Amino acid sequence: MVCYLGLGANIGRPVYQLAAAISALATSPNVSLRRISAVYSTKPVGAVEQPDFFNMVVAISTELSPMQLLEMTGGIEDELGRVREVKDGPRTIDIDILLCGGMTWDDAELTVPHPRMEQRQFVLAPLSEMAPELILPNGRPVLELLEEDCGDVEMLGRLGVLVRGGEGVVRTEEIVSRP
Ligand code: ADP
Ligand code: MG
Repeated sequence: MVCYLGLGANIGRPVYQLAAAISALATSPNVSLRRISAVYSTKPVGAVEQPDFFNMVVAISTELSPMQLLEMTGGIEDELGRVREVKDGPRTIDIDILLCGGMTWDDAELTVPHPRMEQRQFVLAPLSEMAPELILPNGRPVLELLEEDCGDVEMLGRLGVLVRGGEGVVRTEEIVSRP
């Protein structure tokens, strides 16, 4: 089953944290990393005054259940030092489960597909780059939604990671820095 995860970071060393999260995903048991998008820069949503975000989307394949996947991504968030304070506030790393094949899940802890993904250009832009043919849960093609409103999402460039032959080794070469 192919799952899409949305990654975001805006404090500490955001791009480094994105790379570290990808490295952790690549070396997690029962998960294989398939593709990663470019890195995008976006303005924060909500009322909190905070630095711009760096966002990207990754495709993995896994037979884990959505709930097992949430445990794993939560573990990676914790390892990278995520502290939960303000809603929509600054974060070291955020990993959201966007889509898990065609599976749906809805309880107090987890909703899949992610209920706000279709309104978030910082999700749609990297997702459309990796899966331009994708039809979203609302029945609309991802590219069509993005063409209507691409917001102020800016593509910064590739993270420059290289995943070698199934061993999950990730080399961070060209860490993207902001102009
Ligand atoms: P957000 O990502 O919405 O800004 P958090 O990352 O702090 O906020 O997530 C809060 C909670 O959202 C998580 O502890 C998790 O239980 C829940 N959650 C519900 N659906 C999802 C999903 N699809 N992906 C990730 N977390 C989810
Ligand atoms: Mg989250």
